[in-house]
Amino acid sequence: MSKLFVISAPSGGGKTTIVKSILERHPEFAFSVSATTRPKRAVEVEGRDYFFLGREEFEQLLREDALVEHEVIYGNYYGTLKREVNRVLDRKENMLFDIDVRGGLSIRRVYPKESVLIFVEPPSIDILRERLRNRKTEDEETFQRRMDRVAMELERGKEFDYRVVNDKLDVAIEEVQAIVTKHLSAE
Ligand code: ADP
Ligand code: 5GP
Repeated sequence: MSKLFVISAPSGGGKTTIVKSILERHPEFAFSVSATTRPKRAVEVEGRDYFFLGREEFEQLLREDALVEHEVIYGNYYGTLKREVNRVLDRKENMLFDIDVRGGLSIRRVYPKESVLIFVEPPSIDILRERLRNRKTEDEETFQRRMDRVAMELERGKEFDYRVVNDKLDVAIEEVQAIVTKHLSAE
């Protein structure tokens, strides 16, 4: 049976860094490339990090019922494509998701047997703020919007199967890796 590993965290929590590291150790894992209407960052690649769509194109996907789940986050649409997940389930492969807490809980509702939900927590809100500032990808307005969502994310994160505190990055990666290994060997 496929395993669907969902990694969520508040923005700046370290999930992209952790997901990249897990993918390096598991090149056989598929990564769920989401659709979004958010503008592309300089380091991002179309079709690898996201499918960057216009609002109209995204709304067309909604009308076609092409998404497993979607959320409006910081004023943009983000959604998981059915075709991405189905391809992996058909081939009995494993998949990693970098999506928000609500999206993760939706994935578990749709695929209860396959899903493993891992919430990455910052050691404190101050440290989270500092990491997000250091990343230098947000202007003041989007920075504030990201921080406004943190309380909800920490609360809903309690519903996840696992919580990992990202204090020292290498320790957090090992903890996530141990969860992944445990579920792969439970096959
Ligand atoms: P997310 O994808 O959850 O928004 P990122 O993976 O982009 O978060 O991490 C946010 C920033 O914090 C990045 O600049 C990253 O290099 C840094 N970072 C991640 N984990 C740690 C850690 N344990 N200690 C210090 N910096 C970290
Ligand atoms: P970012 O703009 O930093 O790439 O992502 C913002 C938030 O959207 C993050 O919490 C990220 O995990 C989440 N996200 C990315 N893709 C999806 C998706 O397909 N569905 C949901 N629900 N959230 C997503």
